[in-house]
Amino acid sequence: MATHIAVALEEVSKRYNRGPTPVAALHEVNLRIARGEFVAFLGPSGSGKSTLLNLIAGIDSPTAGRVLIGGRDLAYLPDNARSDLRLRQIGFVFQGFNLFPTFTAEENVSWPLEFLGVGWREARRRAGEALDRVALPPSVACRRPAQLSGGEQQRVAIARALVTEPQILLADEPTGNLDSHTGQTILGLMRRLNAEQNLTIVLVTHSQVAASHAQRAIELRDGQIVREARGTVTIMFSDIVGFTSLTERLGDQQMQEILHTYCSVVREQIAVHGGFEVKVQGDGFMIAFPSARKAVRCAVAIQRSMSAFGEHSATPIALRIGLHTGEATKEGYDFFGRSVIVAARISAVARGGEVLVSSMVRELTIGTGDFAFGAGREEALKGLSGTQLVYAVMWRRARPDSDASPVWGDEMSQSVA
Ligand code: ADP
Repeated sequence: MATHIAVALEEVSKRYNRGPTPVAALHEVNLRIARGEFVAFLGPSGSGKSTLLNLIAGIDSPTAGRVLIGGRDLAYLPDNARSDLRLRQIGFVFQGFNLFPTFTAEENVSWPLEFLGVGWREARRRAGEALDRVALPPSVACRRPAQLSGGEQQRVAIARALVTEPQILLADEPTGNLDSHTGQTILGLMRRLNAEQNLTIVLVTHSQVAASHAQRAIELRDGQIVREARGTVTIMFSDIVGFTSLTERLGDQQMQEILHTYCSVVREQIAVHGGFEVKVQGDGFMIAFPSARKAVRCAVAIQRSMSAFGEHSATPIALRIGLHTGEATKEGYDFFGRSVIVAARISAVARGGEVLVSSMVRELTIGTGDFAFGAGREEALKGLSGTQLVYAVMWRRARPDSDASPVWGDEMSQSVA
């Protein structure tokens, strides 16, 4: 039966009756995951995330309710059909990689196919293709897990999960054993597989940053869904440093011209980087982006354009830009919520010419190669308790004498705070 729903849970409950007191691991959970969706389950330890994943994988069965995979109720499938579905339709990735230590990377990837009856030669060929899909070079194929880094081992585990060409990839804390940079690369890979190959991905994590890679984050607590957020956004605030005093000094006429240039620069870059203009008030822009990377690239492009404009202008102007990623509550055309306030406060402590980001934005964009980050600095943000670590973005600047090898820019030095 063709359906666009990859996974459906209907009134699903799971009780464990082992031990002196029964545990209600899941309680009447209803859920639909569309084909090609990337969903993350968040929640503290013991909230039922792994139980949920095991039910979707068909490893365990619910005490009450129905679990449907591609429209088929797992409970009504004979054992052999269920294990066949599990092997062919579902790929599983674990926190601990679960690779056979005596097998090479290629053997670790090819054995599920051999298990399904695919010939040795064909299994090896397809294992090679799967390793290629996760960007592992052929030189890695003959190494054993102990000879691979954590990130490479997890890529092998993902290749093994993908080799049977499943439609659904389930991942249980896949970045839990990796450092944050490698973790981001693995999540980036999952996002690419989701976007380019329409792979349905269900990720279990306790990390908000990991969850923000998904299109939908579902929070579990005590076996129930307590919150659902569709997508995260990065909010950017940009304004002109000393706008009021500049207006007094230069007069309205000249300031209008400056404002005009500034607005066209910002709007051009918003269009290039796929941003959404939420609000403009005087010299203040509030823009939302679907990804942190696009937002930072846009912010850097705006600063670059304004500094180029400053080189030809009698009155160079300095912008401060602040960025934060979070969940946005959309009501009409306005955004409210803490993420917006944090972004606004970060921009308020940025210096002229600076792009300042929260630690969340830094985590989500680190390793892109386009920019680096300065050391974190503690800032008390107005209206928010405690201090927040914020980071200045440093971007590549072409050498004046060649456009071949860029150097890290020190464009921060133009600060006029
Ligand atoms: P999470 O993955 O969010 O940490 P789990 O799904 O592992 O949560 O666990 C949910 C609850 O079910 C916990 O209270 C846990 O102790 C209990 N539980 C999980 N598996 C079993 C089991 N096999 N036997 C008994 N209780 C279990």
